[in-house]
This record gives sequence, C-alpha cells and structure tokens, in this order.
Amino acid sequence: MRMCLGCRTSRPKNELIRINGDAQERGYYVCDDPDCIARLLKNKRLGNSLKEALTELEGKR
Ligand SMILES: [Zn+2]
Repeated sequence: MRMCLGCRTSRPKNELIRINGDAQERGYYVCDDPDCIARLLKNKRLGNSLKEALTELEGKR
C-alpha cells in the first residue's frame, strides 16, 4: 500500500500514479483522480520538479 499525497488515503500501488521529482526528491504517489492532482498542486511545500510533473500530468487529461 502507498499513500496518496493529495488525499492521504492508502491505496494499492496499482491504483496510484507515481510522480517522479528530481534527484533530491523521491517518487510520490497520487490517485488517478483530477481532484487529487489539483489538491496536490496547491501544496506549497511541493518541490518545483514535482509541480512540473503534476502540471504535465494534468495537461494530459
Ligand atoms: Zn488521492
């Protein structure tokens, strides 16, 4: 189980999308859900590389 960083719900890994930041940041997981992605984007502590990866993810929808 992995925790979604958007809603803090634990889910099986295959229900989550892995987001990779730069070398200083480890991979993060978020639900395959636009609401969760949007919520995560509002997180001020998010690193820039993660933010970019999320924005890209959001743009694909
Ligand atoms: Zn979530």
